Amino acid sequence: MLILFISDLHLSSRRPETAALFERFLAGPARQANSLYILGDLFDAWAGDDDLADPFNARISGALADLAASGCRTHFLAGNRDFLIADRFGVSSRLTFIAERTVVDLASTPTLLLHGDTLCTDDADYLAFRAVVRTPAWRDEFLALPLAERKKRIEGLRERSETAKSGKPHALMDTNAGAVAEAFHRSNVSRMIHGHTHRQARHELVVDGRNCERWVLGDWHATGNALAVDDTGWRWLRID
Ligand code: MN
Repeated sequence: MLILFISDLHLSSRRPETAALFERFLAGPARQANSLYILGDLFDAWAGDDDLADPFNARISGALADLAASGCRTHFLAGNRDFLIADRFGVSSRLTFIAERTVVDLASTPTLLLHGDTLCTDDADYLAFRAVVRTPAWRDEFLALPLAERKKRIEGLRERSETAKSGKPHALMDTNAGAVAEAFHRSNVSRMIHGHTHRQARHELVVDGRNCERWVLGDWHATGNALAVDDTGWRWLRID
């Protein structure tokens, strides 16, 4: 039983080499896995499921569906970039959606899975923005706009976010230790896996007197990374 975890591919037609790498991963190493968990920011931006008409998006969706057809169950939870992914994309890609902060039993240890943006509580501006865009009202209103207009607004948001990020201290955009401890405590788990910060690492910590571990998935560029677990234990896979 092999389970793989990936996140933060930030797929975009602007970076064809990462898309090609992901397609090779889906057609190659991922075929050995029983399950693949994608923990958000699969796409750099997602304007709505009607954008599946775009050939780039359709190709990625088809590659995911091919993996599922080969027998690997693919799970997806949304990131801050692709939280508008919905049922149409899920059906076309044969994904099983899981909620943010899902606890799954892995190698007989309950494990908390999340994207990770909600752990970055020092960035108050981002959390305020998130609270607005994750409401059904905002979503309905946004998705009612023409696709081209949605893409234009996302591009504007991206530019503003890049400008804001360049002015923010590095530590502000990392996870907050208190928020991490709180997540372990509330979920009553001793392991969590998340992405978002792009700071690939395994951290050990003690919460409620319990030894805990936190795996942070890295992002994908010219090479990718996956966390793997099977009967022999946990390890990083380099994807190239
Ligand atoms: Mn993210």
